[in-house]
Amino acid sequence: MQLYNSLTHKKQEFIPHEQGRASIYTCGPTVYHYAHIGNLRTYIMEDVLEKYLRFTGLDVTRVMNITDVGHLTSDGDTGDDKMLKGAKREHKTVMEIAQFYTDAFFSDCKKLNIKTPDVVVPATSYIDEFIRVIQVLIDKGYAYESGGNIYFDTSKLEKYYVFNDFREEDLAVGVREGVEEDSNKRNKADFVLWFTKSKFDSQELKWESPFGTGYPGWHIECSCISMKNLGEYLDIHCGGIDNAFPHHTNEIAQSEAYLGHEWCNYWFHVHHLNTNSGKMSKSKGEFLTVSLLEEKGYNPIVYRYFCLLSHYRKSLVFDWDNLNNAVTSYNKIIEKTALFVNETSGDIDSMEYDRLMKNFTDAFDNDLNTSLAITALYDVLKSETNSVTKTALIKEFDKVLGLDIIENAMKANQGEEIPAEVLALVEERKSARKEKNFVLADEIRNKITALGYEVRETRQGVEIRKI
Ligand code: AMP
Ligand code: ZN
Repeated sequence: MQLYNSLTHKKQEFIPHEQGRASIYTCGPTVYHYAHIGNLRTYIMEDVLEKYLRFTGLDVTRVMNITDVGHLTSDGDTGDDKMLKGAKREHKTVMEIAQFYTDAFFSDCKKLNIKTPDVVVPATSYIDEFIRVIQVLIDKGYAYESGGNIYFDTSKLEKYYVFNDFREEDLAVGVREGVEEDSNKRNKADFVLWFTKSKFDSQELKWESPFGTGYPGWHIECSCISMKNLGEYLDIHCGGIDNAFPHHTNEIAQSEAYLGHEWCNYWFHVHHLNTNSGKMSKSKGEFLTVSLLEEKGYNPIVYRYFCLLSHYRKSLVFDWDNLNNAVTSYNKIIEKTALFVNETSGDIDSMEYDRLMKNFTDAFDNDLNTSLAITALYDVLKSETNSVTKTALIKEFDKVLGLDIIENAMKANQGEEIPAEVLALVEERKSARKEKNFVLADEIRNKITALGYEVRETRQGVEIRKI
């Protein structure tokens, strides 16, 4: 499979560190508010990546953190603590809102058929591990104490800006949100590993440490949770494109300084979901959620389908017309599948199966081209092959796409339950045709029509539908 790697800026063959296995780390949500559908675009595309790797036979382990401490509103070391902001807004404790929004996140994921990662770690449950790794960084000379906090010293690295062309001058520290520049830092790009001098008087979550009572920075969470659960070599690290800098850049800096060798081979970044007025963001306070889509009558799976229609490396504009178009096209898939899904006779046509399957795997093998994979799905629906072959293919495709196609097609058929009388006549007509008694077959067809149903013999089998 060819996968675009943000680290090398090109598509590369995906070769896992250990043959037959793949380790994936995903930056989890900051649980101070509901996830918006932009965040969920990222998790949908990561889920599809994971499912496709499993589909190709790899034994995948995926780990995700839950950010319940340390994430400041700027993504750097400035601004407010997001969790504290959420707690104040709702007059609750930080742990109460963390629990509430973690549950809400997984409930949204379930509705979108996003599989829960194999390991999920709330940052607050790993404090000892953060302290241990920070201590190693200090001992190795990569971290220093200044003004009560522990900082990572980016000048100790040969190359810090690994992803893009970020330069130190581009770091808007000191201008963003009117926050003072942190004069404790030796270099502008340095970042906090452990805070003791909290800017926030009411900081609720604090832990004892050799560096003083305080709390961890956001970036160290992901490095530690990944390395502890997935070892020294990580195959794929995922996240939204906004995470590339500074979050992922800092993760690489501290992980490789700690390990003494390269850490993660492939970086998978999903581009943003935007609205016509710009990037969707939690901190702006106005955003679309899965519950809101449901309130408006949309099946959340249609949002998943909407996301699959676009490539993950292109930003995607959300608007209601586009979503409505996705509803129409999704319903068409279900209707077409409903026509043959109940037909179980016949054998799989292996030539056609292989040909149509190849369209699907070729699409995924080309940097997870989900929109081409949907075209491959349409190819199956349009093909002349028999019903069992089509059903078998769609079942396989849906292991990756996660669109509940077979399930919803069956439901559509149940919704229109065909009366026993009609089914009996259809059977009689089948026998009449077998005996080549076409006069009788026609008579039976007329009876079926009179009962309000249409019967059609196709190459794929008999189709019955309400007129
Ligand atoms: P957060 O909960 O803010 O830590 O973000 C959770 C995930 O959503 C991260 O991987 C972000 O990079 C990603 N993300 C944030 N905003 C968007 C957006 N508008 N579209 C897609 N992904 C996003
Ligand atoms: Zn992270």
